[in-house]
Amino acid sequence: MAFGAHPDDVEIGAGGFVAKQSALGHSVAIVDLTKGEMSSRGTVEERKQESKKASEVLSLSFRENLAFPDRHLSVIDEYLKPIVKLIRIHRPSILIAPYWIDRHPDHVKCSELITEAHFSSGLLKFLPEIPPYRPPFLFYYYINKAEGAAFVCDVSDYYEKKKASVLAHDSQFAGRFPYSLESRDRYFGAQIRTLYGEGFASKNVLPISDPVSLWRKKR
Ligand SMILES: [Zn+2]
Repeated sequence: MAFGAHPDDVEIGAGGFVAKQSALGHSVAIVDLTKGEMSSRGTVEERKQESKKASEVLSLSFRENLAFPDRHLSVIDEYLKPIVKLIRIHRPSILIAPYWIDRHPDHVKCSELITEAHFSSGLLKFLPEIPPYRPPFLFYYYINKAEGAAFVCDVSDYYEKKKASVLAHDSQFAGRFPYSLESRDRYFGAQIRTLYGEGFASKNVLPISDPVSLWRKKR
């Protein structure tokens, strides 16, 4: 389950990862916290249609928009509860959220909200009407800042899908895939000796039961 503050955030940071997980047969959902109504470009209706197109490209199981107010995200129960509800109903194995440092304050707030929601999801007395469930993993994808990745996912075979999913947001990109984004993903790819990669940060140490298998299997 991938969270973003705005309707194109997940595509920018983790479009290749999402496309790859879908292709591997996993159910993948994107949850956008706002409709991006404060964006300088594109109307809410246009952005809704663009998100729908991107969701088809990425073969999502579903996409939901929580319609929280753009530029007014904050870590309060009013916003935490619907997120916790979604996590508990769908019980995803992995959550992804924006990296906790970013020049856009909404991305930072989204990161904080998902971190808090991830923790509260496991609490028996928070929203007691739904059984608690805390996903085992919470990883953070990069939007504007890219540092200290805990791992890089090879997305070379899915980069065309990533590009298509980003460009589906035509009001934001006007048909031009950003050079800066491609350069960053090439840089992440270079770190694992592949063409394109997407990096993810983690606040926890990642368990690896058999390091040898990382080299035997195609990453
Ligand atoms: Zn954004």
